[in-house]
Amino acid sequence: MKKKFILALDQGTTSSRAVLFDHNGKIKGVSQQEFTQYFPQPGYVEHNPVEIFKTQYEVASEVINKAGIKIGEVETIGITNQRETTIVWNKKTGKPVYNAIVWQDRRTAEMCDKLKKQGIKDLIKKKTGLEIDAYFSGTKIKWILDNVPGARDMAENGELAFGTVDTWLIWNLTGGKHHFTDVSNASRTLLFNINTLNWDKELLKILDIPENILPEVKSNSDFFGDTKESLFGESISITGVAGDQQAALFGQMCVHKGMVKNTYGTGCFIVLNTGNKPVISQNRLLTTIAWKLNNEVSYALEGSVFVGGAVIQWLRDELQIIHTAGESEKLASTVENNGGVYFVPAFTGLGAPYWNQYAKGAVYGLTRGTSKAHIARAALESIAFQSKDVIDAMQQDIKYKIKTLRVDGGASANNLLMQFQSDLLQTKVQRPEILESTSLGAAYFAGLYTGFWKGTEELENQWKIDKVFLPEKNKDEVMQLEKNWEKVISMINQ
Ligand code: ADP
Repeated sequence: MKKKFILALDQGTTSSRAVLFDHNGKIKGVSQQEFTQYFPQPGYVEHNPVEIFKTQYEVASEVINKAGIKIGEVETIGITNQRETTIVWNKKTGKPVYNAIVWQDRRTAEMCDKLKKQGIKDLIKKKTGLEIDAYFSGTKIKWILDNVPGARDMAENGELAFGTVDTWLIWNLTGGKHHFTDVSNASRTLLFNINTLNWDKELLKILDIPENILPEVKSNSDFFGDTKESLFGESISITGVAGDQQAALFGQMCVHKGMVKNTYGTGCFIVLNTGNKPVISQNRLLTTIAWKLNNEVSYALEGSVFVGGAVIQWLRDELQIIHTAGESEKLASTVENNGGVYFVPAFTGLGAPYWNQYAKGAVYGLTRGTSKAHIARAALESIAFQSKDVIDAMQQDIKYKIKTLRVDGGASANNLLMQFQSDLLQTKVQRPEILESTSLGAAYFAGLYTGFWKGTEELENQWKIDKVFLPEKNKDEVMQLEKNWEKVISMINQ
């Protein structure tokens, strides 16, 4: 039977998705299921690993049925996933010893403060590219081993396995045969040396984690096992794996040094390909592995904005000045400019490059003439301002100017926002036809391994633009806007 499709599994923070792509990178079908979020105490966020796998398996089966294709037409599977989320399970029974501790979970913040006091900040930064923060997997693993009765002994005896979500899915899809991860996911654990591409013994010692629980680390385009026959009726290979932001960077075909993408979702995730050498940030951005492909490693700088599209949800749900996120564009377009209103949506502190967890949001510059349209416009502009702050920090680190920004995610549909982003950056903004960059990246990694696609050049030719935004405002105008924004940021960043 002719193999016509690649199945991408996109295991996200709130939902499991499955997307079928054809040879042209076009979408043949999508299925999605949300799953339960557990908040057992303030600062704790958990998922049930069994539910993660169940929903992921169900959407995978459903997308094939819905598309009306035969399983034999699926060439291979690619996996992309929420990163850092930590699962530890019993190798014999396959049962998790604890719920998945999600990347958002802050329970190990104090543990991180203690580590910082040991004066190992620079060592960690140099080896892993990361900050000492509860966000990453390392301290979450330690928490499980220290707090689940019997876990540490079992780990020492080689009875437990750790994995990020990719590893958990591979384990379950292959019937417990394979314990693998890829370099992009490994580079978010705080345990992986991004220079040597090995689990780092010194870091494992500092965090008191036995090496035997760790998965084997592979390239992004590699053989990760065959699915158990009983799952889909026929066995399918898994040949591509990457963490969600790295997969999106690849799906956007930012495959050359200096190429950057911004995903405008709930938050904004900006990732810049820095080429074959890691750039250690002087501006508090993270350094991470983008991918390893054909034996070559590409690195990236990454910065996130906590509240991106979420500010539009706030306009909808709390202020109730719009009914749908899409309406924000129409409302904001009824005024010519922001009328001097600046909105800093620091609802959960400020992310890169400020890293102020105590900052609170503010709306500044209100006058008697301020309307809800100005507020909507200021809210949209805040997404672009915050993204620009991250991109500026990146430019300072790499010491050259970024020429183009590629965009995806829900809020990238907003033309007013994209135009403003282009104005602020004074660069071209490109929005592709396929906005499912994350799934597409996973499919690309998988398809490259099997030869479904010949190489990245072929994929670069496939990448098609929906719309380009070019700067319309002049530099002076933009400088004034920036000055005002910086003034308001400095007021709340104290
Ligand atoms: P996530 O993957 O983080 O759930 P999505 O990529 O699905 O996010 O994007 C959803 C976010 O984008 C929401 O926060 C929503 O408010 C925002 N959004 C969606 N459409 C628009 C729009 N047309 N204009 C502005 N924001 C939008």
